[in-house]
Amino acid sequence: MCATACPKCRKPTLELAPGALAEPGKPAGSRQCSVCRGLWLPRSLIEYWQHDPFVETGTGESTAPPPLEDRRTGLCPDGHGIMIRAKVNGPVSFYIERCALCRGVWFDRGEWQKLAAQHFLDHLDDLWDPQWKKRHRKEASQRSLDEALGQELGSELFADLERLTQALRRHPARAQVLAWLGERLGG
Ligand SMILES: [Zn+2]
Ligand SMILES: [Zn+2]
Repeated sequence: MCATACPKCRKPTLELAPGALAEPGKPAGSRQCSVCRGLWLPRSLIEYWQHDPFVETGTGESTAPPPLEDRRTGLCPDGHGIMIRAKVNGPVSFYIERCALCRGVWFDRGEWQKLAAQHFLDHLDDLWDPQWKKRHRKEASQRSLDEALGQELGSELFADLERLTQALRRHPARAQVLAWLGERLGG
């Protein structure tokens, strides 16, 4: 296969990803730019890569700032025009891109590693789903609130509180309990 145009560099610098041919039996077709080191995965390869990537998945790059290419929207290397960006929120936020037609995904340098470090790889398509993202953000913020309160109260007291919360969440006297707590704790 001869080089195709890199979605970001817009030059024919996209080549078969290293290792893509090395092992027979591994599906080929992943491509990497020899200049910006971005990575293109056709739809058919994504699931495969989730379990057996060809790239180093060390977490060394997981907090590195996104490369400059991250600011540009890319063109599908298979000629389907502008790709759709999805923002990934984390210690360092960045965008990944997916072709609306062939659904191949483009990762700028280091983005695959960041997604792996944040355990987003199993939910790759969900990143383009606003409902899922909203839910995910809510859960993440609930988790960090829980953590903070757990540290404040100590694990034993926090576990008691959790148990009571579960027991009372759907209890018909829930409103009374809240009012009572406010009365007892408020003053
Ligand atoms: Zn490039
Ligand atoms: Zn495409």
